[in-house]
Amino acid sequence: MKKTSIVIAALVAAALAVVLICDGVFFKTVRSDFFAMDSYVTVEIKGPDSEKCAAEIEKEVKRLDEKKLSRKSEGSLVYSLNKNGSGAVDAETGEIFLKLFEICEKSGGAFDFTLGAVSDLWGFGSDPGVPDPDELKRVLSHSGYKKITVSDGFLNMGDKEAIIDFGATGKGIALDEIKKILDKSRVKEAVINAGGSVLLYGSRTFAVGIRDPLGDASGYIAKISVPRGCVSTSGGYERKFEENGKTYHHILDPKTGRPVENGLASATVVSESGFLSDALSTACFALGTRRGGELAKEYGCAAIFVSKDKKIFATGIGADKIEIADASYSFGES
Ligand code: ADP
Ligand code: MG
Repeated sequence: MKKTSIVIAALVAAALAVVLICDGVFFKTVRSDFFAMDSYVTVEIKGPDSEKCAAEIEKEVKRLDEKKLSRKSEGSLVYSLNKNGSGAVDAETGEIFLKLFEICEKSGGAFDFTLGAVSDLWGFGSDPGVPDPDELKRVLSHSGYKKITVSDGFLNMGDKEAIIDFGATGKGIALDEIKKILDKSRVKEAVINAGGSVLLYGSRTFAVGIRDPLGDASGYIAKISVPRGCVSTSGGYERKFEENGKTYHHILDPKTGRPVENGLASATVVSESGFLSDALSTACFALGTRRGGELAKEYGCAAIFVSKDKKIFATGIGADKIEIADASYSFGES
């Protein structure tokens, strides 16, 4: 279960409540949640079409998950690509792959969407444990985005043992689809939180809490003020386990197949695009403060990094937009 979502949702919900009071116009606010993409998705919508929209959103996110992006769902496109080692991809999915390749390249390989088999070996979410080093090396040698080709609507995995994994981007892709649904409706405001990737919809400034990456899910260390768009956080606190006193988390270094260790506790990316905020938050976490910051900048996104020694580094967002809420954290020197 994604606890991040609950914290951020609570915070944005609080912000939304304030606006409801100031607005002067009463619209029904619908709140609902459901489980998809391995996460809790919470939906808050304000406007005349809110109920209909909430139902449509749930249907669309589940469809995307089950029919397209989930590598565990037998009816999905990604499941079939992984199983068969190749297959036809529709134009929209082809575009997504092209964008993914670009992030893999620009991140110098720190972001890689073909680590599914490596993640499975660590057993995150099911039966976690440190894998045997030889087995890890073997499985890793079959991974790597460079082996995959997509041309003329056809994807070839290059290596049948590689497993495409949308764990780092699926929720962001879903947020972009949700935005299209909202755009077509008469909804005024909405906050959708898909497991730590949040869509802020409405013409105002939103306050979003960045959870304490070193504490429990109920605490937040800073509040950022952002306009409509998407905010996504990747943290070493998600899907982790402990073995022999050491903690292992789910964001992997594609060079070693082991959890990234670079002193970071979380990375948050703000973007108009859900896809970019989600993908780049994972990439930024994997790259660390300096290179991650450069990558976010290249994409015109803001990034906020929180280190394990309780320093906050930000790029593309002014310090005046970040309000530290926990005095044990402070801005670091970059
Ligand atoms: P969450 O799913 O918790 O929101 P992220 O968006 O940061 O977190 O994505 C992490 C997921 O991405 C992992 O659970 C795994 O499925 C996948 N992943 C792990 N390491 C990488 C990596 N280096 N590049 C791309 N995807 C990764
Ligand atoms: Mg991500």
